[in-house]
Amino acid sequence: MDPTGTFKNQKAPCGKIVDGETYEDRDEQTLLTEELCYACGCLVIRHEYHDGSVSRK
Ligand SMILES: [Zn+2]
Repeated sequence: MDPTGTFKNQKAPCGKIVDGETYEDRDEQTLLTEELCYACGCLVIRHEYHDGSVSRK
C-alpha cells in the first residue's frame, strides 16, 4: 500500500501528540480499509463497509 496522506499533531491511542501517515486499501469484504500509522508506533485500522457502517479496532 502507498501512503494516501499525512497528518500532523494528532492524538495517538497511547496519548502522545504525533505526526503520521494514512493508508487506504480496498477488498471484497470491506468497501474501504483505512490505516492510521502514528509516528510513535501506534496503528489504528478503520473499516468502512458497503452498507456504510464503520468499525474501529
Ligand atoms: Zn502511540
